[in-house]
Amino acid sequence: MNVTLFLTHQCNLRCDYCYNGEKLDRAMPDSVARRSVELAFSELTTDRSEPVLIRFFGGEPLLELPLIRSSVAHARTLAAEGGMPEPTFSVTTNGTLLDSETAARLERDGLSVAVSFDGCREAQDAHRRYANGASSYDATLRGLRVALAELTSVETCSVIEPDTVSLLPESLDELLGLGVSAITFTPNYEAPWSEGQLGALERALDPLGDRLVASYRSGQPVTIEPYDSKIRSHIGGGFPQRCRCPFGRGELAVAPSGRLYPCDRLVRQDDSNELCIGHLDTGVDQGKVKALRGALAEPDTECQRCQLKGRCMHWCGCVNVMTSGQISTPSPTVCRLEQLLIQSADRVAATLYAESNPAFMQRFYP
Ligand code: SF4
Ligand code: SF4
Repeated sequence: MNVTLFLTHQCNLRCDYCYNGEKLDRAMPDSVARRSVELAFSELTTDRSEPVLIRFFGGEPLLELPLIRSSVAHARTLAAEGGMPEPTFSVTTNGTLLDSETAARLERDGLSVAVSFDGCREAQDAHRRYANGASSYDATLRGLRVALAELTSVETCSVIEPDTVSLLPESLDELLGLGVSAITFTPNYEAPWSEGQLGALERALDPLGDRLVASYRSGQPVTIEPYDSKIRSHIGGGFPQRCRCPFGRGELAVAPSGRLYPCDRLVRQDDSNELCIGHLDTGVDQGKVKALRGALAEPDTECQRCQLKGRCMHWCGCVNVMTSGQISTPSPTVCRLEQLLIQSADRVAATLYAESNPAFMQRFYP
């Protein structure tokens, strides 16, 4: 069982595309954090030979650093007592609070760190600002540099917005220049993309793909998502079932209140009874999980006929709920964005495959 602890609704930033709901002063009590960790080791975890994954999320989880530390220690104790493998831990942060001391602490505790950073100054400042409107660029850049210097496992997550899409190559150059080797670009699926902006994305993905090809040719390939997963989905004939969100089975997010959700994206301000699937006090409502999974198992009819259905995110109930309001129906924008991403990934893969690039063959056809 993988469990995400939504440590706080509060955040020092106010990104205008934030999907995490209102910034309430509501942090997770220590007792809720402990019980959330225990949930990961409960009878819900059927395969006890697999390491449990505990993720820390928010809001800004580094506002609650002591909770991270106590949860990590508690998880380690439970794993040892239960004869289970060492758990793995990750935290997703906006990076502004990452100083050397914090980074060293996270490294000692064995956390993987994902820093949300949109790349170049213009892209970051367009959407990721402090509550008072000030730029977060310098603080995030400082935090990312510290993370890269002090931590073993660092990745970045960047959001592609319709109005900053042309900055995509510049943002990638900035991340590569900093030495980031694992980068995720996610389009804002909820934004209103115009035809012109979708065209701009298509054009921006070409230089992005070229830079990825160049990194393979240099012999030191970076990982750029969703390219890697789209390429793997082509080779494997679709996303493997184990990589798809189990939506309430095998993965849970816990809100500071103790309410349970299938995914951290759905916690928001913790006021949805429709998507809440239980509480730490009462456990998972299996009837509700079954109903949600049943709805997901009946994909939109257009998707059923589509050649790309194994490779696109139409199976992500969270994205579907957020974009179309229907758990099994992706919005037309999701459909277009996914097609563009798959097209660009296929162009990269075809180029590298045709030249039998050693690093590419090693990664995808070992
Ligand atoms: S840093 Fe994360 S939680 Fe905070 S406002 Fe931005 S997207 Fe939301
Ligand atoms: S969302 Fe679009 S691209 Fe994806 S499976 Fe459905 S029809 Fe195909």
